[in-house]
Amino acid sequence: MFETITAATDRGSSASRWRRLTSPGNRPYWMVTGGVKRLRTDKDPLRTVDVVVVGGGIVGACLAYWLAKSGTSVQLLEARELAFGATGRNAGLFLPGSSALEDPDLVEAVLAEEDIDAGFSKVGHLALTKSPEMWRRIVGEVERRPNNVPPLEALDRAGCEKLVGTALSPAILGGRWYAAGRVINPVRLTLGIAQSALRHGASIAQGEPVRSVASNGASLTVRTDRHAISAAKIVLACNAWTVALVPELATILHAVPAQMLSTAPGAPGQARGFALDWGTVYWRRLPNGTIVAGGFRELDRDDHSAYGLAVNPVVQDALASFLADTLAGAILPPVSRRWAAVMDGTPDARPIVGPLHEAGLWVVAGLGGHGLPPALALTRDVATALIHGRASRQLEAFRISRFEHLAANIGPYPNAIAPGRPRTGSGFGTASLKPRK
Ligand SMILES: Cc1cc2nc3c(=O)[nH]c(=O)nc-3n(C[C@H](O)[C@H](O)[C@H](O)COP(=O)(O)OP(=O)(O)OC[C@H]3O[C@@H](n4cnc5c(N)ncnc54)[C@H](O)[C@@H]3O)c2cc1C
Repeated sequence: MFETITAATDRGSSASRWRRLTSPGNRPYWMVTGGVKRLRTDKDPLRTVDVVVVGGGIVGACLAYWLAKSGTSVQLLEARELAFGATGRNAGLFLPGSSALEDPDLVEAVLAEEDIDAGFSKVGHLALTKSPEMWRRIVGEVERRPNNVPPLEALDRAGCEKLVGTALSPAILGGRWYAAGRVINPVRLTLGIAQSALRHGASIAQGEPVRSVASNGASLTVRTDRHAISAAKIVLACNAWTVALVPELATILHAVPAQMLSTAPGAPGQARGFALDWGTVYWRRLPNGTIVAGGFRELDRDDHSAYGLAVNPVVQDALASFLADTLAGAILPPVSRRWAAVMDGTPDARPIVGPLHEAGLWVVAGLGGHGLPPALALTRDVATALIHGRASRQLEAFRISRFEHLAANIGPYPNAIAPGRPRTGSGFGTASLKPRK
């Protein structure tokens, strides 16, 4: 089952790169397993719509869903295939924080209403630590935890071993148990939401990389290699690749490389989510004993300026050794897949959401390593703001203009969508904002 890492470089022709990315060993676990059925999407995009959504990850799919559900005409354009980016390559841990945008009840409700089986389940999350300082923080956090949020528990190593079901490395001091932690299959979620968006009237086209966005004052135009689409609004939901369309955002959005692996199935057991020290390493055990793990970001010294997706042998080896050392009493199944991914970081680790320009170009990006809990609620608020011109309090907190050096380019929350109505935008040319004089 073990796949040798054959190519640690992302260079080469786009055809050979594509072949490598889609080779069986480099296909992310979620894209090839777990009952994922490929979606039949539209062959050709519509020519004129209210909103074009660029990017078919969890953000783009959810946004298309809410827009279509409200009766807005929407075209989603995905460069490769739905969930090709971070969404199809992540760990599927769903760890809601205290923000109202991260309410798991909304996810439950949408999954039930749309009849989507995304394996959304409360399996609990155990964050282990080897560090005395971190252990003190865990104990303090548990003591200070308010009563109105799901409880945490500080467990010593023996308590952790009970939950993990195996002896742990003696270096582990203990862990923080969060019984309300959940997991989800990110690809089944995204394809399920995209399927629902189609049912509600959205058009979705895959294999349509957007090359430019432009304004002629009256409307916006998105160009792919084969099509030009007019829209009243465009929303870029392209993770760190957003910078390729709006280079000015390079001062805010940066690509954070990440590596993941998954093993063959092992001894069946209780599914759970895990981490070391809040995310140095994060992993999941699936009911069939498969382990999906990622982390050791700081070991990745490759040049990621081109946002490549190269498998990094150093990080991959560190991940496999970590699992073997930490789960000391377990017989680990062999690694069967290894893949790379990119997250989108911002200087204050908060998303950027909102218009870039009065003519109606929007960005939703910067969800970093925590995109699954907020995706549905965040995009529902974005859809409302696009349709009615009203931004929620939560959206205001993610305004791009909080980065002052860009503020001159960034307009206020614009008016509601009014297809066909002439607009007064000054135009921002091709794939780039023109600084205002
Ligand atoms: C390794 C890793 C592990 C993670 N683990 C977790 C986790 O356990 N829990 C959690 O909550 N979050 C996790 N995250 C974060 C989560 O995956 C992201 O926050 C989320 O998937 C971002 O979704 P997105 O739709 O913004 O981006 P993406 O999923 O990256 O989607 C962007 C899409 O845009 C497309 N695109 C790019 N440019 C263009 C263009 N020009 N034209 C058309 N399409 C384009 C891409 O092909 C891609 O499909 C993890 C992330 C990584 C990388």
